[in-house]
Amino acid sequence: MSSLTELAEKPLIDPFDRHVSYLRVSVTDRCDFRCVYCMSENMTFLPKADVLTLEELDRLCSAFISRGVRKLRISGGEPLVRRDIMWLFDRLGRHLETDDLEELTLTTNASQLERHAAGLYSAGVRRINVSLDTLDPEKFARITRWGKLDKVIGGIDAAAAAGHRIKINAVALKGVNDDEIHDLVAWCGDRDFDLTFIEVMPMGEIGGEMRLDQYWPLSMVRAELKKRWTLTEIPDTTGGPARYVRAKETGGRIGFITPMTHNFCEACNRVRLTCTGTLFMCLGQEDAADLRAALRSSDPDILMSAIDDAIARKPKGHDFILDRRRKAPAVSRHMSVTGG
Ligand code: SAM
Ligand code: SF4
Repeated sequence: MSSLTELAEKPLIDPFDRHVSYLRVSVTDRCDFRCVYCMSENMTFLPKADVLTLEELDRLCSAFISRGVRKLRISGGEPLVRRDIMWLFDRLGRHLETDDLEELTLTTNASQLERHAAGLYSAGVRRINVSLDTLDPEKFARITRWGKLDKVIGGIDAAAAAGHRIKINAVALKGVNDDEIHDLVAWCGDRDFDLTFIEVMPMGEIGGEMRLDQYWPLSMVRAELKKRWTLTEIPDTTGGPARYVRAKETGGRIGFITPMTHNFCEACNRVRLTCTGTLFMCLGQEDAADLRAALRSSDPDILMSAIDDAIARKPKGHDFILDRRRKAPAVSRHMSVTGG
């Protein structure tokens, strides 16, 4: 076995020669919204005792950073509803100061962003992804079940005022926000926000709503956008799965994340950690590694070996299918477990 010092510096390379440099962490599975495509109204959340403490999350993230992770995205559930979450952002910010981490960022529903915008900036966060599918207050209430649009807009404004770059993520939902995509482009263009459309993915049981009915392929979204905007392809600069175009009329960037219709696995550089310390090597597969026991053992070598073993199991790609006969999710866990 290699010594701790050797392991602690060895980069994480998977069996397909992909360098794992991006970690997404779901810091809680809880949320103050119940978006129809994400959760059922009556969710059973994890017992608090199973959830890693913030100190443990810091240690685990720091172990990944010591192994070459350069980008860290904090997600959830809703990350900003976790108590004392700013402590974790402040702690992780130290890796930005030493340049061991290139970017610390988060994905949020923005319901709590107004009070945290300045604190996030002080911790070193510079870019925030906000999920917003509609600009219509009633529709917003219907999609999120529990959300209030004015609170979210207030959070977005506060974040922009604090100096953050904002990217809006909108899930494309047939029969729900298909009449609003031009308004979203114009709204984001006016504010100098990037905008990314996401296809709805078959993850987790969500109750009454039929995900097959909501699915709206982004090829059709793009075709619709072309009717009104002059779109030019631009090279992907984020290293992520989105493909980008620029709308000439607004100057804004529009991204498309198409897990259902476009295979982006070859360049996948990411893994996902849940709030219980389970590592998912692929968003679209069930295989996972439990790092909690290793994290809680007194020997730091055990954690490093557990991380290596997990990366050695990273699969080549996912196989999402919206199976019209089964009508069951291809992956049984909810997106709020792995944080999107
Ligand atoms: N609560 C935060 C938020 O909504 O931004 C962070 C967690 S949320 C699970 C992360 C992202 O996953 C959101 O942009 C949400 O729209 C997206 N999402 C959730 N369920 C999805 C699904 N079934 N298909 C596609 N995207 C989904
Ligand atoms: Fe909560 Fe985000 Fe899921 Fe909506 S998408 S229910 S805000 S975790």
